Amino acid sequence: MVVIGGGSAGYAAANKAQSKGAKVAIVDKGPLGGLCILRGCMPTKTILRSSDILALIHRAKEFGLSAPNPSADLSLINDRKNRLIDEFASYRIEQLNDPKFTLIEENASFLSPHELKVGERVLSAKNFIIATGSKIAEFPVPGLAESGFLTSDGVLELRQTPESMIILGAGPVAVELAQFFCRIGTQTTLIQRSDYILSKGDVDLAVPLETRFREEGMKVYTGTKLLRVEKSEYNRTVFFTHEGEEKSATAKIILQALGRKPNIDELNLSAASVKTNKGRIEVDEEMRTNVPHIYAVGDVNGLYEIVHIAIEQGEIAAHNATQKDIRRFDKRLKMSVIFTEPPVASVGLSEKECELLNIPYLAASYSFNDHGKSLCMGETHGHVKLLCSPENGEIIGAHIVGPEAGEMIHQMVTLMHYRGTVHDLIKLPHYHPTLSEIFTYPAEELVEKL
Ligand SMILES: Cc1cc2nc3c(=O)[nH]c(=O)nc-3n(C[C@H](O)[C@H](O)[C@H](O)COP(=O)(O)OP(=O)(O)OC[C@H]3O[C@@H](n4cnc5c(N)ncnc54)[C@H](O)[C@@H]3O)c2cc1C
Repeated sequence: MVVIGGGSAGYAAANKAQSKGAKVAIVDKGPLGGLCILRGCMPTKTILRSSDILALIHRAKEFGLSAPNPSADLSLINDRKNRLIDEFASYRIEQLNDPKFTLIEENASFLSPHELKVGERVLSAKNFIIATGSKIAEFPVPGLAESGFLTSDGVLELRQTPESMIILGAGPVAVELAQFFCRIGTQTTLIQRSDYILSKGDVDLAVPLETRFREEGMKVYTGTKLLRVEKSEYNRTVFFTHEGEEKSATAKIILQALGRKPNIDELNLSAASVKTNKGRIEVDEEMRTNVPHIYAVGDVNGLYEIVHIAIEQGEIAAHNATQKDIRRFDKRLKMSVIFTEPPVASVGLSEKECELLNIPYLAASYSFNDHGKSLCMGETHGHVKLLCSPENGEIIGAHIVGPEAGEMIHQMVTLMHYRGTVHDLIKLPHYHPTLSEIFTYPAEELVEKL
């Protein structure tokens, strides 16, 4: 087997295939480490820890504490991040260099459905797994390219806190970075086309976060249309329509966080007859492309852009390429976490999806501003929401916007894995006072409704 790309999806695929007895070559043009470690999950979560602590220190008085003049030093924050990332990357590079694989550090492109050009060599294999990830997509906003902008890669390298920044977009990457810069002292403006931030999810999950952003001093514009960008000697100005009027925002830096696209340009997929649709490689639930011995996993198939899903897809493809029985990707427990404050976490179906797919459901929510533990903690933004089947009370979706959402969601993942119902949830013991016990309130409401 040849695995193209040694990031999260590719490494998982290679490891699984090798453990099942396949002879595996991994081709990666480098830098080795993958997006999650080098420029994605890990660097962003490391720096967010600094801005979260700073934001808490700023609230010292509320907790009867004194902490005069706390401030952020972006170069020290990034030094800490770089130290950790170097460690994570070295470990991954060690794994890729394990002699159980053949690692080839070259660009890969197909010559035919069975041949891959790798530098000066041609590799052939029984199966190929494409795991080349994603790259930042370009958006045709007039004047944007000419004015200059940074992407999530660039802002992770800044050494000085920018005076001001406009963030274009309001997906997970955009909102996490917007809150980071806002909290370390950058005047931050977020401009989003959809009517609310994090627009893939339900609107009620976005509202508490938008409120918190505004309370922290961020300007948030939703429901906009970008018109053009102009550059002056020191600043950049973004013009957009908002509530029927033309408006503008000016800042030193623009962070273009409008989205990513599958990384397929160099693969010469047409030589392998692999079909693409709107720039992404189409796969079925077995992770197979239209060419049965070629699979595509992780960001390159454009389905989720989430690491644990990339890993699961890699393992499924490796299993299906080496074993007789077939494994399929099950999206019932699809999960997402956005590491803002308050964080946002979801598993299973949203109300939006239920409505779109005509799936009947009952829903109930409970607010953190009426819950003992969150009041003790002073973390009262947000709520939890449960969706269950009106027939038998099986939980089909769980959502949290509020403290520790990324940790708390796993209680619901476990329950849903075993097809737990709201009746099961109210029977489970919950320690008092904990954040987790908040779930029992919407569950009780749903039991009554049922
Ligand atoms: C700022 C940011 C924050 C994020 N935070 C989170 C988070 O908190 N949680 C989460 O779940 N997800 C997060 N993500 C998304 C996550 O990082 C990705 O979904 C995941 O890393 C994708 O893994 P992959 O294996 O598909 O691709 P990658 O890790 O990008 O691996 C692709 C590999 O393919 C190689 N390659 C590419 N083209 C070729 C070629 N032609 N020949 C040879 N090699 C090639 C590359 O060198 C690379 O090593 C974040 C993303 C960003 C940008």
